[in-house]
Amino acid sequence: VSRPRTAAVICAGTELTEGIIQDTHVRFLSSELTAMGFTVVRGVQVPDNRGLFSEELARAVKDARVVVISGGLGPTSDDLTREIVAEAAGVPLEFHDEAWAAIKERFRGRSLPESNRKQAMAPRGFPLLANPNGTAPGFYGMVESALVVALPGPPSELRPLWTSRAAALLAERFDAPGAADVLWGTSLMVPESALEEALRDTGVEGVTWGTRVDEDRISFSLRGGDEERRARAFKDLTRHLGPVRIRAGDRKPAELLTQALRGAGVTLVTAESCTGGLLGKWMTDLPGSTAVYWGGIVAYSNEAKIRLLGVDARILEAAGAVSEQAVLAMAVGALDRSGAGLAVAVSGIAGPDGGTAEKPVGTVWAASARQGDARAVKFSFAGSRDLVRRRSAVASMLLAEAFLGGKGFLDTFANW
Ligand code: ATP
Ligand code: MG
Repeated sequence: VSRPRTAAVICAGTELTEGIIQDTHVRFLSSELTAMGFTVVRGVQVPDNRGLFSEELARAVKDARVVVISGGLGPTSDDLTREIVAEAAGVPLEFHDEAWAAIKERFRGRSLPESNRKQAMAPRGFPLLANPNGTAPGFYGMVESALVVALPGPPSELRPLWTSRAAALLAERFDAPGAADVLWGTSLMVPESALEEALRDTGVEGVTWGTRVDEDRISFSLRGGDEERRARAFKDLTRHLGPVRIRAGDRKPAELLTQALRGAGVTLVTAESCTGGLLGKWMTDLPGSTAVYWGGIVAYSNEAKIRLLGVDARILEAAGAVSEQAVLAMAVGALDRSGAGLAVAVSGIAGPDGGTAEKPVGTVWAASARQGDARAVKFSFAGSRDLVRRRSAVASMLLAEAFLGGKGFLDTFANW
């Protein structure tokens, strides 16, 4: 039986309401719920305050059939989620031996504060969601007519638990399209508005789409219709925007480059100017990056480019640090100084200052080099400093990937 698919998201934490950390869970959970066909009626943050949290929960269970709560599952006195959900459900808290055993196992003999026992508690009748990435398990159960799902606050715990357990639970209970009925794709270096336009243009009957904007990509979901139709919509989109910018699955650019490096059996060295280490950060965000990432050099000033990468001072004088010759010299210099098989270099004007008529803000050169071969491409990006830097990092990763792939390298980046 299908029920009205409404959902609310509550993120607990005074750190959030005081603006100390930025909430990312409302966005993540809302877009996941939306992709599953739920209408998200509300996404809010509440402080670790009994009264305010309780009121918010009471309101949410009236307005939505699913309420996802994040955070407040820790061992300290300001972690209130268990108590508040139990109280709303009118049940006491119950101690779970197997959860306590799992928590002790995680501490591996180190002394465990007594307050951690609290993390083995859940409202009576609420099954636990075992948390392989942290101490506190999540739990779920009914409060009035809403299914309440509580998940731990740290993103590295919440996201996997959501994906591995909670999403499937909701799909099953609410007869929502499960993972098998959604085709995920990734769009790289395409402005959101252009992507939407392209998605609208694909218009395969019965197929709807949603997007999720992240720092390095836009993930999109195609749902409805049947498998064949979703695949057709995806193919249309790929024809529109090209196979470099449209990828199957939800993939980070660093993952795509890593895959190419593994395939070719070479390691990467980065030489970064305007991105200030972002390429290195994204490469090493991935577990196992040691196998493909040699390391990198952040050469921001001209002097650093000369001293650390061996760029000829005359190039910087004659053509400037943001030029074809400069990025080529950076890439070749990094390759020569490292034991890596592939180099990527990037230098650009991120703004807001530093632009000229000839090289306006957003002018970015990126290059890739292997033994005996190097190529550079010029990009011109719109947007804030932050956006230009992120686009530069994505573009140079795609460039390195394409360079490694060989075929049609320059055509790939024509007219971007
Ligand atoms: P812990 O056992 O770590 O205390 P918890 O379930 O009690 O886990 P919180 O204390 O609420 O979770 O949050 C732990 C950390 O997770 C926060 O310090 C913050 O870094 C991150 N976090 C929590 N909620 C959010 C959110 N909505 N968006 C982004 N990060 C969050
Ligand atoms: Mg906590």
